[in-house]
Amino acid sequence: NENVTYELAEVIGDDFGEDCKERRLAPSENPVQVMMLWPKNRTDQSSYRFYLREKISDFGWQDQFVMDPQLIKDYFHRFLYQPKDREYPDLCQLPDLNEQTLLDNLRARFVAGHIYTYVGSILIALNPFKFYPIYNPKYVKLYQNRKLGPNLPPHIFAVADTAYYCMLKDRKNQCIVISGESGSGKTESTNFLLHHLTALSQKGSHGSGVEQTILSAGPVLEAFGNAKTAHNNNSSRFGKFIQVNYKENGMVHGAVVQKYLLEKSRICSQGRNERNYHVFYYLLEGATEQEKQILHLKTPDQYYYLNKSCHSLENVDESYEFSRLKQSMEMVGFTAEKQRRLFSVLSAVLLLGNVEFQPRRPAYHHDESVGVKNPEVVFLISELLRVKQETLLQALTAKKARASGETLVITYKLPEAIASRDAMAKCLYGALFDWIVLQVNHALLSKKDTLREHQGNSIGVLDIFGFEDFGLNNSFEQLCINYANEHLQYYFNQHVFKYEQEEYRKEGIRWNNIDFMDNTGCLQLIEGKPNGLLCLLDDQCNFPGATNETLLQKFNTVHKDNKFYNKPQKKEGAFIVVHYAGKVKYQVTDMREKNLDLMRQDIVGVLKNSSMAFVRELVGADPVAVFRWAIVRAFFRAYFAFHEAGRKHRQGRVDGNKNNIQQRYQRNHTPNENIIRKNKSFRPRERSKKGLKNLQSVKTLAGRTGITATNQGQLGKARKQPMTVTAQFQQSLHSLMDTLNQANPFFIRCIKSNSNKIPNQFDDETVQRQLRYTGMLETVRIRQAGFNVRLTYDEFIQLYRILLPKGLLSSQNDVRHFLATLNLDRDNYQLGGSKVFLRESEKHKLDCKLHQQ
Ligand code: ATP
Ligand code: MG
Repeated sequence: NENVTYELAEVIGDDFGEDCKERRLAPSENPVQVMMLWPKNRTDQSSYRFYLREKISDFGWQDQFVMDPQLIKDYFHRFLYQPKDREYPDLCQLPDLNEQTLLDNLRARFVAGHIYTYVGSILIALNPFKFYPIYNPKYVKLYQNRKLGPNLPPHIFAVADTAYYCMLKDRKNQCIVISGESGSGKTESTNFLLHHLTALSQKGSHGSGVEQTILSAGPVLEAFGNAKTAHNNNSSRFGKFIQVNYKENGMVHGAVVQKYLLEKSRICSQGRNERNYHVFYYLLEGATEQEKQILHLKTPDQYYYLNKSCHSLENVDESYEFSRLKQSMEMVGFTAEKQRRLFSVLSAVLLLGNVEFQPRRPAYHHDESVGVKNPEVVFLISELLRVKQETLLQALTAKKARASGETLVITYKLPEAIASRDAMAKCLYGALFDWIVLQVNHALLSKKDTLREHQGNSIGVLDIFGFEDFGLNNSFEQLCINYANEHLQYYFNQHVFKYEQEEYRKEGIRWNNIDFMDNTGCLQLIEGKPNGLLCLLDDQCNFPGATNETLLQKFNTVHKDNKFYNKPQKKEGAFIVVHYAGKVKYQVTDMREKNLDLMRQDIVGVLKNSSMAFVRELVGADPVAVFRWAIVRAFFRAYFAFHEAGRKHRQGRVDGNKNNIQQRYQRNHTPNENIIRKNKSFRPRERSKKGLKNLQSVKTLAGRTGITATNQGQLGKARKQPMTVTAQFQQSLHSLMDTLNQANPFFIRCIKSNSNKIPNQFDDETVQRQLRYTGMLETVRIRQAGFNVRLTYDEFIQLYRILLPKGLLSSQNDVRHFLATLNLDRDNYQLGGSKVFLRESEKHKLDCKLHQQ
């Protein structure tokens, strides 16, 4: 009987009702409404009883008849879409939305092997810790030219495809922002995205080769910048933003990688069960006997810089990885000779850790100065780096100072000697990593590229180090990492909640405000001026006599009433920040030292005097190389500036009627445009050529074009007072945010299915925690309630011209009347001040009518 509502009930034993949990399974528009009761302690399948119940009032139900399970199954098949664990590929389809249904749906999908789920155009990627065969060429093909939507199961390729489609259609830069805590799958997702983004333009052929170079850059950067941590066996210890550039015809044209802040402290020490950077282990396992000899390699357990407790990784064959790395390096233009030099530096870094010190004189002399205990190690290092052994020995044990016109040699005590040794290792590795990124960029820039030729747009993929908390061992690095993640969360909030709701308000749309967890307060605590934690840290770095203890006191006094700042209950040298993703306790030890991270002049001086050009190049002392890289960098910057200006120009033409919020952002965030404006006749290539004659002008150009401070370090350290690490990081983070703000964003939210990296295990608590702090419920709410399709009245009239009564349509009122004549659902569209707002369903109806015409 269609007029009666029925409910399907499932119960166990006699404990009907109270101990049962309700779950609605079918959408209410079904002729029969069905509800299922889940007993909480459901253990025994055989004792299930099923009822079909008739709804007799809003609250009352009358049992109709008991069915046997087979009958129920048939019933489901006949009347309902699917059996009990119906899962929705898009969370916006959830008929009954709450934390539990959201989690249940994700779990049901995960168990069925469906790791991807949409929230409108946002993709949730649940990390299964097990590879499904869903990334092979068959899938690449399947998702080609098939935008994100209900026609195919949710997939990360669909996001890449949609970004590509939007770029070509709107002639606008796109960006894909991937977020999630450490180990949630951001880097894997980035690799899948790049795989698809490079495949898209190939259309059957093998592409121009630059696609392969883009894909090879990943393994190289991961070998040098990823390491095993407590949270992830392949944790990114740096951030990267890869922009794939396309020509106007959609073919890949080249790419650019930006890197953010490498964790250098890992070179000298690692936490329990953690490792140093992968490349060291690859090299030690994979090098040939001959290489081992030439490079003076030992076994991992013979190096102090390699954690004694953890050398190997499960399921990783380091030798194989080494050969894969070499192949990838070749693809990005590292010749065999360059590789050899690079490995010598790696070997030297490892050996530095083995340099030991001993007192110069017996204790009764009260002379605490130390000398090197094992000069033979220093000898090997000096061979590998081609520096004089005496100079190296001296730099490790003493520093020079000038006083009243005289040069004094001040010998180090043990802690100072260790610090100088470690500083040299970190300086070398950091410079090596910067050099690798530059080299990769050089290879990624298409050979045929010229500034004026490049008329297309780009798709950027952002993969940074995920939010992390190591309990008692969080330090400066975690503060920087978590600060970057706060920024990403803020960016997400702005786009998903703030701008969206601002627009509804501005357009006069009926709208119930949806609250979200605003993290502005925490960002303010960290980066606010003049009292943010980073500002105070910088102050204390420049203040004579300051220590980490005075730093903590300063934090405590300035922020004692800040609700995002807590003091630990027990008195200890630490402070707590209340992040969007949870409270994290940071140890204040070494904060100032790590923030200063000075390229110590004494150490740089030794390396500058190397007879190997490569080493000089690393520390910016090889004039030819400095020159070459300055030009390459200036070219990159100019390339961006030119590209961006061209884009804006075209964008202005294509999209004259741009959303105000976007315009406001662009006005405030266009650093590159100033460069163009200041140099009206600026032709970067020509400038660069001229620059060859004049180093100074190249330096200025490089400086003006905002080359990152680390790179400026390589330009010969022109500045007197080097920028602190956080100042550099803040600068590059803000410039990243500017770039992101100018592009059309897509979001991927990576979620860890469990904390123990166990394949196919869905841990309710772990997932729930992440869903909560990412504001997933609110995200689904706003996407459910929101109007995805927005067309200005002009655009609307243009698009549906043939449906409209001729000549009648000119005003808002006409559109209103026209829409009223169609059989649309009134709840699914609204008319704003300047735009028509529609849900996808109504747009679909209109499009169907259009096609019928
Ligand atoms: P971090 O912030 O520490 O860099 P991350 O978010 O980049 O972490 P990944 O390194 O991408 O995390 O993923 C961690 C591990 O999870 C991978 O090494 C892989 O084993 C597994 N993994 C991630 N995504 C997938 C996937 N889509 N399919 C199968 N396994 C995956
Ligand atoms: Mg990663």
